[in-house]
Amino acid sequence: MIIDTHAHLTWNSFNHDREAVIQRAKDAGITTIINIGADLKSSEAALQLAQDEQQDGVSFYSTIGLHPNEVSRLISVESIHDYTTKLEQVYQSEPSLIVAVGECGLDYYFEGNEDFTPPTLSVEQLKSRQMILFKDQIALAKKLNLPLVVHNRDAWEDIIIPELNGVVGVFHSFRGSEEQARQVLDLGFYLGITCVVTYHKNDSLRQIIKQAPLDRLLSETDCPFLPPQAHRGERNEPFYVTEVIKTIAEVKGLSFIEVAKTTSTNAQKLFRLR
Ligand SMILES: [Zn+2]
Repeated sequence: MIIDTHAHLTWNSFNHDREAVIQRAKDAGITTIINIGADLKSSEAALQLAQDEQQDGVSFYSTIGLHPNEVSRLISVESIHDYTTKLEQVYQSEPSLIVAVGECGLDYYFEGNEDFTPPTLSVEQLKSRQMILFKDQIALAKKLNLPLVVHNRDAWEDIIIPELNGVVGVFHSFRGSEEQARQVLDLGFYLGITCVVTYHKNDSLRQIIKQAPLDRLLSETDCPFLPPQAHRGERNEPFYVTEVIKTIAEVKGLSFIEVAKTTSTNAQKLFRLR
C-alpha cells in the first residue's frame, strides 16, 4: 500500500494525459491519491475527480481549501469569510470523499511573485489577510471535524498559532529546521515529505527524517511541482511518491515495504480513509 497524500492532478498540465498518469501510479502500487484543493475551482475539480475515478482500483479523495496566495484576489475581508462558506458547501455536497481542509496557511514569498502581490495591497495587508483566511479554515476544520493541510512558505515566525490547538493535520512539504520539525510534532501534526528529500543539497532534511518517528511522517508529491532529483525541471506525478518512500527507507535503514506500510497507515489514520 502506497499513498500520495498531496497531489494536484486537476492541474491543467495533466489535461492531456491524466488517465496515463493514473495508470502509471496504479502500476507502481499506489493505492490512494488525495487531490488537494487550492481554491474553490480546484476543490470542486478534486471532488469531481474522486467521484469519477472511484472504480479505477486507486482510491481518490479530495480536500477543500484556499491557498494563502489567493487572498490577493479577494477584495474584502467579508469576501474571505464568504469563501470559507462556499468551501463548506462543497464539503456538504459529498462529505464521504472530502478528507481535509486545506491547503491553507501562510506564504510570505512575495518577491518576484507579482501574480500574488497586487499593487493595491501592501505586504502587511496581504499578511493580515492570509492570517484571517488561515484562521477561518482552521475554524472550518474544527467545525467539520476534519484534519488540516498546512502550507507554509517563509512564515515560520507566524504560523504556529494557538488556534492550531484542538485540530490535527500535516505540515505539507515540510522543509524547515530540526527545531521547527519538533514544533510541528509537539503540536501533534505530521510532517509531509515530498521529493525535495531526494535533492542532493538536502542533507539537513534527511537528517531530520532520520530522527523523526516514522509514525509521524506522510508521503506526498505535491505534483505537478517538486519532481525528484533525477527529474528536476520536469512535471512531477504521483508515481514518484515511490522516490520519497525509497529515500525515507534509505535514511532510516528500513525496508521500502515497511516505510510504505507505516506511512500509509499514518495517512489512513489522519485522514480517516476507509
Ligand atoms: Zn500543494
